Amino acid sequence: MSRLLLGCIADDFTGATDLANNLVRAGMRAVQAIGAPTGALDAEADAVVIALKSRTIPAQEAVAQSLTALAWLREQGARQVYFKYCSTFDSTPAGNIGPVAEALMDALGTDFAIATPAFPDNGRTVFKGHLFVGEQLLSDSGMRDHPLTPMRDANLVRVLQAQCRRKVGLIDHRTVAQGAPAIRERIAQLKREGVGLAIVDAVSNDDLVRLGPAVADHALVTAGSGVAIGLPQNFGIAPSSQASELPRASGLRAIVSGSCSQATNAQVADFIAKGGHAFALDPLRIARGETVVEEALAWAQPLLAQGPVLVYSTADASAVKATQSQLGVAEAGAMVEHALAAIARGLVERGVRQLLVAGGETSGACVQALGITQLRIGSQIDPGVPWCHARVGGEGAHIALKSGNFGTTDFFTKAFTLLA
Ligand code: ADP
Repeated sequence: MSRLLLGCIADDFTGATDLANNLVRAGMRAVQAIGAPTGALDAEADAVVIALKSRTIPAQEAVAQSLTALAWLREQGARQVYFKYCSTFDSTPAGNIGPVAEALMDALGTDFAIATPAFPDNGRTVFKGHLFVGEQLLSDSGMRDHPLTPMRDANLVRVLQAQCRRKVGLIDHRTVAQGAPAIRERIAQLKREGVGLAIVDAVSNDDLVRLGPAVADHALVTAGSGVAIGLPQNFGIAPSSQASELPRASGLRAIVSGSCSQATNAQVADFIAKGGHAFALDPLRIARGETVVEEALAWAQPLLAQGPVLVYSTADASAVKATQSQLGVAEAGAMVEHALAAIARGLVERGVRQLLVAGGETSGACVQALGITQLRIGSQIDPGVPWCHARVGGEGAHIALKSGNFGTTDFFTKAFTLLA
């Protein structure tokens, strides 16, 4: 295998896909690995994104997992390492952004790294070190009341400093606007002042493109997924359709949906309104121990030859609430995820090779049930949702993992049309 250019470590699954998708769009062939791989890659790639689930676990564990991922990436010869976190900088004073970033710096022997969750085209801007989510300061946004990582301070220099041993500084928008030479000069100045990590302002995507060449020689970049748009050019890579090329799609088609978001509810309704075959999964029947998985698979079997079939637990907010009050929130969630994952596996056993999964947690459960460890990233169906190619039980299959609110209303039909 040729040498890996960019080795990435992402602190959650959908964040990893988001980053890989940006890299593919910028011209890199990218593979997303679920956890640190133990052996070689299934496919050639310029970039590998290792998806961890380390955002909210104890900092020590996040550090250990990230260092394991780093060791594998270094074995592949990765020329630059990218630590990807959430675009809302999800973390607490205990971590995990600071501790992981510093552990990676120590391991790589580097004394400076940038840190910025900015992605202006997606509504994440950083101005004078303050993060805005759309029109609001981070601390005024919904993130204020996040159950695990409430973000009550928008000043990222302060937020990151609370998590770091090293001194945290700022590269502000005036410097970024002047381009790479000015950014490099500012970095040299910060280093002289003993700064080890610096938040970088970005108020437009052009800022990120200007930032790219300024960090070309950095061993480590820490960022949301936005900074990725400016990095492939450092390796002489330009956007091309080849980066997203996947093997030709074949086999039967199916959709498994466990997301109850507004967008997914509309997508399910649209698919059914267009005459699509759909099977509704009732969580209360699963709870009563009825053989719903077998029923769904028996229903799907004769229909699969006619086009994509949909199996869904997707329901509106009031129905979900009613179910949760009877079964408990976590219990209902786990039970439905388990059933949908078993159905996904059953569908693949029946010849499905083009599978769409709706829901972040649902996707995690399905990927696990299908034994998928690597996903080659193809072209995107809608922003943030690419078709992927994976090895499932020794055979190739196309799979797309859609987190809750992504995708247009006709997503379930459009996705298969694009693949054909
Ligand atoms: P999203 O990406 O929209 O958040 P997820 O799959 O991450 O979707 O989360 C949806 C959660 O809701 C899962 O745990 C799923 O099992 C659960 N769930 C799905 N359908 C129902 C339902 N009808 N009633 C209660 N919980 C449900």
